[in-house]
Amino acid sequence: IDSPLSPSEVNEGPIFVNASVAPLVEVRGLHKRFNETEVLRGIDLDIGKSEVVCVIGPSGSGKSTLLRCLAGLETYDEGEVRIEGELLGYRERHGRRVRASSAEINRVRRNIGMVFQQFNLWPHMSALDNVMEALLRVRRFSRHEARARADLMLETVGLSHKGDAYPAKLSGGQQQRVAIARALAMEPHIMLFDEPTSALDPELVGEVLQVMKQLARDGMTMAVVTHEMGFAAQVADKVVFIDQGRIAVQGKPREVFHDAKHPRLRQFLQNYF
Ligand code: ADP
Ligand code: MG
Repeated sequence: IDSPLSPSEVNEGPIFVNASVAPLVEVRGLHKRFNETEVLRGIDLDIGKSEVVCVIGPSGSGKSTLLRCLAGLETYDEGEVRIEGELLGYRERHGRRVRASSAEINRVRRNIGMVFQQFNLWPHMSALDNVMEALLRVRRFSRHEARARADLMLETVGLSHKGDAYPAKLSGGQQQRVAIARALAMEPHIMLFDEPTSALDPELVGEVLQVMKQLARDGMTMAVVTHEMGFAAQVADKVVFIDQGRIAVQGKPREVFHDAKHPRLRQFLQNYF
């Protein structure tokens, strides 16, 4: 007798269609105020898995605030930020929105890595210990496991030979690469970069961008606030121009850089090209 659910029928075909197509990051109608000042004024943004989104825009336009909202480092006033489908910062209770506990926020944040303009390494720890610290304390790795992971991460950023060095003995570019290794060690599903090369001497910018390019090639999902238009043109799947708390233009690098019709974008890009 042919069962309507014979194994061959059940296993054939794309049963899990749509199971994993949701964007890794979904931002809808995001508003953020600092006191009276509305800094983000309705941001809508999707970041798909393995997508690289570069965020550009004038100083004070809200780029860092947006990234901090994505990282769960900042509360927001309206709208939604979802990471892998999970609402960040709030929780629904009886149809109303209540602030999530710090434990809930930390659970979502666990999958988000962030790298800042200032490298924020612990000065009293070697490069290796900087990378191992959160593995030991947060992830509860054994020293042996943490050491193995940290070695691998330093190798990934080309600093295998600098494990014992203290931050003060490293160049800015090397410190930033350690900061990247430290974030990667936690196995984030997305990496957020806020002007990672802006504090660097010009000759050190390239080595950090190189590491980020490799990361992108390896399929890491990334949001990068940057003034490095060459990097954005080369690496971004999508470029987002933020102006006065709104996304004024977004599209493929070619569209944003070459077909710039938006007057404020043209004006902004004139400083770079
Ligand atoms: P960008 O990174 O694009 O330069 P920011 O997101 O840092 O812009 O800042 C956007 C606006 O929000 C600026 O006017 C800034 O002064 C203001 N702002 C940022 N953080 C705070 C804060 N913690 N308190 C008050 N105002 C803030
Ligand atoms: Mg900023």
